Amino acid sequence: MKRKQPERESGGARAGGLYVHVPFCVRKCAYCAFYSRAAGGDGREAESWWEGIRREAEAVPEGFAPATVFIGGGTPTSLPEGVFARMLEAVASRWGGEGLREWTVEANPGTLSPGKLRRMREAGVTRISLGAQSFSPEALAALGRIHSPGDIRDAVSMAREAGIPQVSLDLMYGWAAASARAALDTVRADIDAAVALAPDHLSAYCLEVEPGTPLAALQDRGRAVAAPPALQRRAYELIRRGLAAAGFGQYELSNFARPGCECRHNLLYWTGGAYIGLGPAAHSHWNGERRGNSASLPEWHVEFRETLPPRRKACETLVMGLRRTAGWGREEFRAVTGFDWVELRGSEIERLVADGLLLSERGGERIRLPASGFFTSDAVFAALV
Ligand code: SF4
Repeated sequence: MKRKQPERESGGARAGGLYVHVPFCVRKCAYCAFYSRAAGGDGREAESWWEGIRREAEAVPEGFAPATVFIGGGTPTSLPEGVFARMLEAVASRWGGEGLREWTVEANPGTLSPGKLRRMREAGVTRISLGAQSFSPEALAALGRIHSPGDIRDAVSMAREAGIPQVSLDLMYGWAAASARAALDTVRADIDAAVALAPDHLSAYCLEVEPGTPLAALQDRGRAVAAPPALQRRAYELIRRGLAAAGFGQYELSNFARPGCECRHNLLYWTGGAYIGLGPAAHSHWNGERRGNSASLPEWHVEFRETLPPRRKACETLVMGLRRTAGWGREEFRAVTGFDWVELRGSEIERLVADGLLLSERGGERIRLPASGFFTSDAVFAALV
């Protein structure tokens, strides 16, 4: 990557986001369908990946000055120390500094050390997103996680000691348990344990059994691996209530934050923002074009470029933005897409409102999902896209 100060767009403001995909994990979790693989022992694959990122970064437009950076994966903190340090230094030198409003690094609690966290803080990382998933040792074992509940607690305290300004925890729910009561007790215990660590942000995802994963293979052999949908919904409502009582605002279907700690980078994805993704399986949305990299190591290339018809793209943006609990303001939507939603999907919106599946407020100037429809939002999205 070139060493240079970030350039600003003509108005001086930084905009958009940068995503870097790190395709390595210590071990694959039983449910995971993200593009990542268990890292080889000698670090050669990581070096080769880093060379690929450097080459891809050379092609990023000079004027690109992201307001947010997100290093995700995979497990970025599973990179060998030397590659991890070079990546942080290169991102900081080209895209860091004044005006970078948020820099997140994803981490598995079993892969952190005070040294890695200190490097992150020195580079300018503002936020660490920890894949906690659960505080139950049995659940962590069933999900194939490499860490213990104690590792989660240690990781949070190390991040705080290193001075990382914000900590986010990912939780998972919705796997099969011995009984409904046991499942809900685990959810309650997970909420309590997570809240006790005083994170700034929490994400809660329902287990999905993805094809090709070890959990899917178990399911194919007749084992129940996911809880019934009605129980998953009860778990989701427990999480919503528990986190609200602890002072977290829900700003997206699966995301909760203390005031001001919402993830700016992910908000870009939900509001049709521009971003550039580097690495295998990374996606970009830049100059109106979507681009996706192939999921292959050590070489990857642009697998598709797609310029969607404007109406179709606006419909997709409508749906993505409705994932936010605040939904869309009519003027905001017009400014982002150039379309009025009445012109785009007026009759569908009217029908969804009449059926109570969508709320229309302020004389039709705002639409959003009712809280009762968060868990079943897919049906609404299918009608709108
Ligand atoms: S640590 Fe995360 S990315 Fe890696 S295998 Fe597990 S769930 Fe997937």
